[in-house]
Amino acid sequence: MYPWPTHYDDCFTISSSITRDGVGLHSGEKTKITINPYEHEGYYVSFSDTPNKIYRLDQSLIGNTMLCTAVKLGKRNLYTIEHLLSSFAGCGINYIHIEVDGKEVPLLDGSAIQWVKAFEEVGIKKVPKPSNFMKGINQSKILNQNDSVISLIPSKQITIISTIDFKYEAIGVQTFTIELNPKAYVELIAPARTFGFKDQFDELNELGLIKGGNLENALVCDGDKWVNPPLRFANEPIRHKILDLIGDLALVGLPKAQIMVYKGSHSLNALLASYLNS
Ligand SMILES: [Zn+2]
Repeated sequence: MYPWPTHYDDCFTISSSITRDGVGLHSGEKTKITINPYEHEGYYVSFSDTPNKIYRLDQSLIGNTMLCTAVKLGKRNLYTIEHLLSSFAGCGINYIHIEVDGKEVPLLDGSAIQWVKAFEEVGIKKVPKPSNFMKGINQSKILNQNDSVISLIPSKQITIISTIDFKYEAIGVQTFTIELNPKAYVELIAPARTFGFKDQFDELNELGLIKGGNLENALVCDGDKWVNPPLRFANEPIRHKILDLIGDLALVGLPKAQIMVYKGSHSLNALLASYLNS
């Protein structure tokens, strides 16, 4: 097993470039990305048809579509970036350049584990810590959106306690607590796949919005059962919610805090990210 650290005292990049391709969730088109180590801190993106135009990702470029997180880069959008960002932040990886051939980051298996495996293939190496890397906070904060709540308490480490409550019996109420570090992220969070609901899935499919969505890249819930078992963990949905939270905080930096989330969503996470960014 790859020796992932059990703390965030160090920051890493990858040792050499990796390429992955697959289907984009929205377009259903083939898309390819190459991830390279980079000399500057942060996450940078360029498109393969304009290789000299390099964008630095920051929180102000983030937008949420109904189905995924997108970043606005000049006149175009790069879609479905959240799980890749989660894999970087969860593993403590920074100083990265992403070259995109297409409009989306491939969904792969709907989790972050394929990205983690790609990092393990080439290995990681230490780089100087960016200023927002695992930064301390000096006060508590509670933010809410209707009955969804996210709170933050200063702490020496990053602990996430997250709860979901779905009317679908196959999911129901799930709570997961994790003291986050790269090893814990890789083992307990990265393999958790995205999930959706059969009625919505059929509707979105008819609207042509998820041309690349299929039973290989999302768990599909149908009331009291799963359409495509087995699950990787009995509580795979709540673990995936934590995967999404980590991705949504990647550009502002994970805070050293105890983070509690009730009924989390990308838009609730975005509230926290803009608070941390202000
Ligand atoms: Zn997700």
